[in-house]
This record gives sequence, C-alpha cells and structure tokens, in this order.
Amino acid sequence: MASAPSPIYLDYAATTPVDPRVIQEMARFMGPDGLFANPSSVTHAPGRAARAAVEEARAEVAALVGAREREIYFTSGATESNNWAWRGLVAARRDRGRHLVTSRIEHASVLDTAQALEAEGFRVSYLPCDREGRVDPERVREALTPETLLCSVMHVNNETGVIQDIQAIGKLCRERGVPFHVDAVQSAGKLPIDLSTLPVDLMSFSAHKVYGPKGIGALYVRHDPTLVLEPLIHGGGQERGLRAGTLATHQIVGFGVAFRIAREEGMADAARIGRLRDALWARLSRLERIRLNGGGAPRACGHLSVSFGGVNGESLIFFLGDLAVAQGSACSSARGEPSHVLQAMGLTPGEAESTLRMTLGRFTTVEEVERAAECIAQAYARLSVLAPDAARRQAG
Ligand code: PMP
Repeated sequence: MASAPSPIYLDYAATTPVDPRVIQEMARFMGPDGLFANPSSVTHAPGRAARAAVEEARAEVAALVGAREREIYFTSGATESNNWAWRGLVAARRDRGRHLVTSRIEHASVLDTAQALEAEGFRVSYLPCDREGRVDPERVREALTPETLLCSVMHVNNETGVIQDIQAIGKLCRERGVPFHVDAVQSAGKLPIDLSTLPVDLMSFSAHKVYGPKGIGALYVRHDPTLVLEPLIHGGGQERGLRAGTLATHQIVGFGVAFRIAREEGMADAARIGRLRDALWARLSRLERIRLNGGGAPRACGHLSVSFGGVNGESLIFFLGDLAVAQGSACSSARGEPSHVLQAMGLTPGEAESTLRMTLGRFTTVEEVERAAECIAQAYARLSVLAPDAARRQAG
C-alpha cells in the first residue's frame, strides 16, 4: 500500500523546525550527566561551565548582528523583548513626554503594548504604509515631536516579508534624539544586520524563527549611558539586574548555535530559499485573479503573501489538506480577525481574508514547492467552481 504523502510545511514565519545541530548541542545541557547547573551558581565548577556556555551563546548572538556581548540581554522571546523595549524605555523617560511613534503593521506584541500605554494616558502615532507595505521615512519625520519617547518600526514584516528602511528611519530618529526600536524577528539571519553602524538603539530577536528553540529571545540595548531602560521583570540579579529569572541554559545554548549557523550559512540559505520562493510564485502567478502582496517592494527571502480573488482563505486552507500554510500571522489568526497588515496596505477585509501566507525555509525542497503549487491550483479551481458568485463579487 502506498503511504500518504507527508505534510508540506510552508509556515516558517510562524516558527521553524529546530536544526538538528542545535538539538544536539542543547541536549548536552539538560540531563544528569550534562551541564545542567544554574549558570548563576558560580561557586562551583558545573555552574561556571554553564555560565561559560551562556556567555559563548551571547557572543554568538551578538556576532550575527554586529553587537557587543554586553548589549545582548536574554528574554523569553521577542514578545517579551518588544514589551520590555517599550515599557522599559517609557518607565525610564516618562518625565520627558508622553508620545510614542510606531507603524500600523507591527506585530501584536508591539501594537498591544502601544494600546495598553494609550489606555494609561500616552499618545501613540500609528504610521501608515503604502499599497506595497512600505513605511515612508518622511512620515516618521512628520510624526516625531520633542515629546516623543520612542519610535518603533519593524525590519521585516511577518506577513508580507516587506523590508523597511530602518537605516533612513533610524537616521531621522538620531537627528531628533529619539531612541529607535526595531523588531528584527523576521530579518535576523536572513538579511545582513550590522548594529555597529546602523542607527538603532534597541532590537528584538527570537530564536525560533532562526531554527532555534521556542521560548528564548533577546533584546539588544545599545551601550550608551543616556539610554536607560527600567526592568520589566524584577527578581534576582540576572542579566546585570535588568532581566530577572534563572537563565534557561539549554535554550540559550540553542539560540547561540542557531545564530552561529545563521552567521555561517544564513546568506547562502537565503539565496536558495529566495529562488524556491520565486519558483513557487512563478507557478501561482499563472492563476487568475491572484495578487502578490508587497510584490513591488524589497522583501526578505522566504515570504509569499498571496490573495486569491473571490475565495475565502479559510475555505481554501480546508481544501489544501496537508499543506501547512497560514492566513495571516499565527498571532492574528488566533484572534480570528482579518489581517491588520493587509488592511493597512489597502486591502478590504474580504480581500485580506482571501489571502494565504506561505513562508519557506531551510528545509523546504524543490519537490515540496512543486507539490504545493499543484495542490493550491487544484484547491483554488475547485473553490472557484463551488463559489462562482463570490468570485465574481470580489473580482468586480
Ligand atoms: N515579532 C514578530 C515580527 C514576530 O513574527 C513574532 C513571532 N510571531 C514576534 C515578534 C514574537 O516572537 P516570540 O514568538 O519569540 O514571542
């Protein structure tokens, strides 16, 4: 009997598999024979060995993005890093003003923090993007005021892959003395980042988008005596008193190995993934009433956000069977709302709902891309026959 084809995973922007080389290294830091000691227990050799491993990982994370080791603080992931960047800075600077600047296409961990601060009496300017998903640096210039405490704009959007001009935005912030935070979760390891030259003060990272484990991330805080951040989590003195909690040695080690591999192989990986992504789009673009969101803007290698005119994305996903794709981001689909990113780009809620996000990664194969293209074309054709009225309504 022929075995069922295995699922095709095209949801790398939600999370990646952990690279086997990472798993192997992490395993050394868990069991009774391993380096499981608390890295803060430096009174004994096992603790000091764990500490050394944590510091080695910190150096690897820093090396990928051109940062110094002391500028990297481990967190539980980028959600915490984003919350901390905003709340930590606001707490340290609240006597200077009550205004914040961000964009309408940020991740929920930024937008929800912004909304929570609004409820506490802060004013937030939400910058628009154009039809291709780009935030115009000129809009940033217009939004900054002497009262602005922070500007926060993501590097690569998690739904469309569109790259923002963080160099230009950061330069404007620098000129006005406003700290600049960048969510680099989707760009680290995929695009070159050099914090030794970029005008960025705070940057968020997550290991599980770069073939590392979930539940570990970092916040880069530029070493600058004028850039003070209050802690978000209080407790022990870990991370130089700024982020309390027992360091998750095995997670941190996995993060370090994942970022080392990204430094050594990331750009070659990105080129290969970009070719596969383009091959998938070349197949899909032959279908009718189809639109590539952000197709006119520079994009990171793995993303394809495609609107299928006239069909509902949820129904399309149903017909896709074993194809693992997303409708929006994992976080916004948990809420069941049409994508705020696509709507900010001018799509109607209906068009946003008829969109699939396909994201490719290190383990995607040519054969998977071919099967995925076929599977999508078939499902789309079936749905277009089943719901021709809806197709006409949306096409018109
Ligand atoms: N920012 C972006 C752009 C993301 O894609 C994600 C993950 N979906 C996060 C932040 C949150 O990261 P984490 O899962 O590490 O909390």
